[in-house]
Amino acid sequence: MPEKPIVNWEEQQAKKSAAKGETVPAKRPVTKAEAAPAENSVVQAADKPIKKPVAQAEAAAAPAAHSTLQTFVATQEAKDKASTNRIIAVILWVLGLGCEAAVIYFLLKGTFNLHNTLSWVILIGLLVADLILVVVGSMLWKKANRLDPASKKEKLRFFVQNQLGAIIAIIAFLPVVIVIFTDKNLEGKQKGVLGAVACVALVAAVLLGINFNPPSVEQYSEQANEVVALTGQNLVYFTTYGSVYHLYSDCTYLTRATTGTVYSGTVQDAHAQSSAITESTLCSVCKARAEAARGISLAPDASASPAAAETPAA
Ligand SMILES: [Zn+2]
Repeated sequence: MPEKPIVNWEEQQAKKSAAKGETVPAKRPVTKAEAAPAENSVVQAADKPIKKPVAQAEAAAAPAAHSTLQTFVATQEAKDKASTNRIIAVILWVLGLGCEAAVIYFLLKGTFNLHNTLSWVILIGLLVADLILVVVGSMLWKKANRLDPASKKEKLRFFVQNQLGAIIAIIAFLPVVIVIFTDKNLEGKQKGVLGAVACVALVAAVLLGINFNPPSVEQYSEQANEVVALTGQNLVYFTTYGSVYHLYSDCTYLTRATTGTVYSGTVQDAHAQSSAITESTLCSVCKARAEAARGISLAPDASASPAAAETPAA
């Protein structure tokens, strides 16, 4: 089996930031002294024992004790990144709404002769630009929520923050759909084609904007505590597009040739890296192995079935 290096996720992110000329935030090292048995060479700089946000200190001494559960708190670094993503998302959404406004303006004004190809190209082009801007904004917005999730305790804020992409999608396309179908200047066939394009864009943008598995402070806390209960530390292994994270770097799902770069980091890092990680997060093979090693058995809540485990990453 060829040796596959494991990349420390936070160091890699710090390098990326440095390359972009951003200030590198104080590194939050992953305590890795008794990391899972690693045949693979684990890329890891010297550890400095700085306090981590999620249960770490008493972790080793606290096997699955629910009294020691700790609440997840996003790091300042994650919050800063989330803010940047949110600002860019809002700018893209505003630009998307601008495209929509232009389409509505042109239609209401009767500016275009729709027997002219150029008019069609401009109108459809604006709708497509609107769609791309809104969807890319939604992706960034979701990423920000994975970095800095809302709490379920504030129900309204939790809903709005997680589903804002879908809300924006409705604002960005429903008015133009209504204008197209009520426009008396448009002939039947033109109305049909333009209306169909706008409707498809509306549905696509809403579906891509909905967060079907909204991340929450509570979910992250539970998942981190589960990992700590199993291994004594908040350390997992994951890939860019994998749907689960692992407790052992030599898990069969990670050592396959098709597996891409394997990262090590916290549960939070895994979420930040892979949007594919949803409710079923912990590799069931790793979970069973850790339970056997510790002689404990946790509730089968969050673990994934083998079938849903690691999908080959690009
Ligand atoms: Zn695994």
